[in-house]
Amino acid sequence: MFEKLLMTPGPTNIPKRVLDKLSENILHHRTEEYSFLFSELNERLKYVFQTKNTVLTFPAAGTGGLEASIINTFSTGDKILAISIGDFGDRFIKIARIYGLDVDEIKISWGNAVTLDEIKNSIKDDHKAVILTHNETSTGAVNPIKEIGLYLKNKNKLFIVDAVSSLGGIEIKMDDWNIDILITASQKALMSPPGLTFIGISDKAFEFCKKSNIPKFYFDFIKAKETLEKEKPQNPYTPAVSLIAATNEALKIIQEEGLYNVYKRHEFLANKLRDEVIKMGLKIYTNKNALSNTITAISFDEPGKATYIKNKMEKEFNIVIAGGQGSYKGKMIRIGHMGCVNEKMIDKTLFALKNLI
Ligand SMILES: *Cc1c(COP(=O)(O)O)cnc(C)c1O
Repeated sequence: MFEKLLMTPGPTNIPKRVLDKLSENILHHRTEEYSFLFSELNERLKYVFQTKNTVLTFPAAGTGGLEASIINTFSTGDKILAISIGDFGDRFIKIARIYGLDVDEIKISWGNAVTLDEIKNSIKDDHKAVILTHNETSTGAVNPIKEIGLYLKNKNKLFIVDAVSSLGGIEIKMDDWNIDILITASQKALMSPPGLTFIGISDKAFEFCKKSNIPKFYFDFIKAKETLEKEKPQNPYTPAVSLIAATNEALKIIQEEGLYNVYKRHEFLANKLRDEVIKMGLKIYTNKNALSNTITAISFDEPGKATYIKNKMEKEFNIVIAGGQGSYKGKMIRIGHMGCVNEKMIDKTLFALKNLI
């Protein structure tokens, strides 16, 4: 089916129907046809974000979405609470600091999730926001964003969530869980080509945007919202038309399967993969209470083993997996199972793994 299976935490396998959209003629972005496509995309994004809020689309990697969320929402010197929990949690903190935010960190040891109590103990009146990675892709740990969101309800703080490797694979209810800014990207569970970031933004967050003093031009949320809300929705500048057409098709596939069936498929495949990996005598890196349904991290004590498996998987079995990040480079493999993934692909990956350990 695929020449090379992408069992990585992004980019992921792309269904043929989605790839085909990339070869269609380009719609001009100031035509009715484009507005129709863009409104379809916007409605479908609301469905996967489970929100009535505006979801903006920018041509960028997920990291661009994280950066845009910081520069639109805050002013220099604003105090926020963030969670250092792995490579991506730390990236979010780095971005906030580069723009002059005053970041208090909760440090969580790798492989674990933050708890609501730890948030309660660290949160202060002058924190303008809590920023958090939902699914920490470098460790395979999932944070309890529902509990945290419900706790933050009616507090004058924003709840900002990086869901780049979970949205569309693990349940997230933006509105019910009181998330003010929810960020994802096209190339992970949304099974689309890399290049787009999607950002859901609450009315409360837009109020913060109006007061923000950090300079921005291209990534301006307010400007993007204004053009999106025209009777014929548009973008302020030339959009990535082909990527939008492709993602629109991918979201249509998710709608056809049904969001809850998609979650259940991810859960079933993650459980199967983990059970079999444990049966092989391998060590799941992540704490049992924080396991992710989109990525599995397996750590190795034997030097060189992780790198050997990763390389052989690709050369001999045509399966691309990821290695470890940070201090786990060369000591971990990470298998992505998000988006366009089925039981056959999991079985193929397990077969290869069994042959290489
Ligand atoms: C992949 C990922 C990112 C960064 O996405 P890019 O598109 O590579 O910039 C950010 N956060 C998380 C949790 C991710 O998994």
